[in-house]
Amino acid sequence: MSKDVHGKTPEIVELRTEVRRHLEWLRDAGIGELEVPVPAKGSALSGRGRERVGQGRPDPAPHVEPVPGVLQPDGQRSAVEKARPPRAQSEREGKGQYALTDKGCGSAALLALREQIGECTRCKLAGGRTKLVFGVGRPDAELLFVGEGPGADEDAQGEPFVGKAGQLLTKMIEAMGLRREDVYIANVVKCRPPGNRDPEPDEIAACEPFLKAQIAALSPRIIVALGRFAVQTLLRDATPITRQRGRWREYEGVKLMPTFHPAYLLRNPGEKKKTWEDLQLVMKEVRTRAGP
Ligand code: URA
Repeated sequence: MSKDVHGKTPEIVELRTEVRRHLEWLRDAGIGELEVPVPAKGSALSGRGRERVGQGRPDPAPHVEPVPGVLQPDGQRSAVEKARPPRAQSEREGKGQYALTDKGCGSAALLALREQIGECTRCKLAGGRTKLVFGVGRPDAELLFVGEGPGADEDAQGEPFVGKAGQLLTKMIEAMGLRREDVYIANVVKCRPPGNRDPEPDEIAACEPFLKAQIAALSPRIIVALGRFAVQTLLRDATPITRQRGRWREYEGVKLMPTFHPAYLLRNPGEKKKTWEDLQLVMKEVRTRAGP
């Protein structure tokens, strides 16, 4: 087994990085104590007994229910993960201008949608964009994050949430025990509004059918709507995000959790704790539905 100069295997190095990111996000979210499940005597995790880290008897190897996308202690994918269909990379390449291996195009339906959008000129954002930002992630993702629209970094790279707000989103996803590549990430508008201004109603209207088609192609179990544009576009509800966040809603039969946008959290770090509470509800739902 290969080891680095400190004698650590790649798995240990990756695990340490993941743990550090997770703890950074929790610290930033104002969480100083962690709750860990403690298995009931002589049985699998009951979910009833919980202890605070550092306050009770440490459990050397707590049994944790497998959650999709979470590495198991032995570095293997969980049984839920193994049961998934093979990833897009192993699928046949598309024949047109776009391919299954392009960012966010990893299924026939997504690829067809990307081809349909093409080099879009349906609204005035087209003139100012460098790259159209379609989406990124697994075509069979259970979790879909929807943001507002690309910023400068996303416009340059053609991938959503890769700038500062994106780095925070990645931390949030990792703190949920997932990896960025286990979920799907998209935006309400697919081209950058100039100067990072808010997308305008005609721009949202021009792009919305593609977001809807993207959601239909993905068929996620849960949507996390990041910020007011995602929430208001998907739910047709103009109630301020401060009053909508943290409550389960439904978008065309899919559970939807409204929460704050990472860019808002960068400006208002005191609100991270509330977002973490919202994401915990999402994690609970993911675990519940993952089954025994
Ligand atoms: N903000 C968004 O809403 N989307 C991105 O892709 C980046 C920043």
